[in-house]
Amino acid sequence: MSVLITGSIALDTVKTPLEEHHDLLGGSASYAGVAAGFFTHVNLVGIVGNDFPRPYLELYQKHRINLDGLEIANGKTFRWSGEYEWDMNNRRTLSTELNVFEQFRPALPEQYRATPYVFLANIAPELQLHVLDQMQRPRFVVADTMDLWIETAREPLLQLLPRIDCFVMNESEARQLTRQTNLIKAGRMALGWGPKHVVIKKGEHGCLLFGDGHVFSAPAYPLEDLHDPTGAGDCFAGGFTGYLASVNRVDGDTLRNAVIYGSVIASFNVESFSLGRLQTLTQHDIIQRYEIFRVMSQFVAG
Ligand code: AMP
Repeated sequence: MSVLITGSIALDTVKTPLEEHHDLLGGSASYAGVAAGFFTHVNLVGIVGNDFPRPYLELYQKHRINLDGLEIANGKTFRWSGEYEWDMNNRRTLSTELNVFEQFRPALPEQYRATPYVFLANIAPELQLHVLDQMQRPRFVVADTMDLWIETAREPLLQLLPRIDCFVMNESEARQLTRQTNLIKAGRMALGWGPKHVVIKKGEHGCLLFGDGHVFSAPAYPLEDLHDPTGAGDCFAGGFTGYLASVNRVDGDTLRNAVIYGSVIASFNVESFSLGRLQTLTQHDIIQRYEIFRVMSQFVAG
């Protein structure tokens, strides 16, 4: 089965204490789309300006991403710039230029509307709802958000939650949204707002999956080579949804596996800037790291 992904497409400038790179391919939909492309075909919905580099369009196509729903508008592509501290968990947004995003109101191509799996990556909740409204009974809908929308668009975000199957957020967003300090309470509270499942990502400490009366705690890969954490969350969710679509099952065991596959792709992505590492990633690399996750989580009862 295929997956429809909407979100931002950006030219990013990213600064870490050791390196700085300009006009990198970024945006939540870029990361999520390429991640999902390791598992299945992707129908992308997004907007770029006419300054968007052609090699980036070719990169999408190389990753099984259908561009029928990509609008190329007159104007400049969305731009974002951020800076990391030595503790790479801490990031500061330096600038955001919406550019063509200001006029984005996508009408989905007819052939996209029956896509069974959907990932609404980080964009304004009103736009996530607008895309979802055009879908014909999707089988499983995943959505992500960010601090900005929790602060400025709480109402539409709360309207979205009962309409989705899985809500993904990071730990600070979970605390901000629910006003709970404890993540277990935060996860349960978010479940109470309507989604069937909730995932809380804890960066280098793994993630929690809530739903069906259970909590599953997935470990993080013990990574030594972290270069750029940008897009880790989007790769997680893209890999997660892509895997579910590829097996076309959404039971508890499959969701746990999807969490691990999402974590595998995210752990590779942070090894280099932008989508650099995912360009050389192979199915063999994915399986090998999945196996490390499996062994790492196993213990024998004493
Ligand atoms: P993450 O590291 O998962 O938070 O995602 C990083 C990506 O989010 C970057 O590539 C940015 O281009 C994109 N981004 C930053 N701000 C926004 C925003 N306000 N709306 C949509 N995407 C954004």
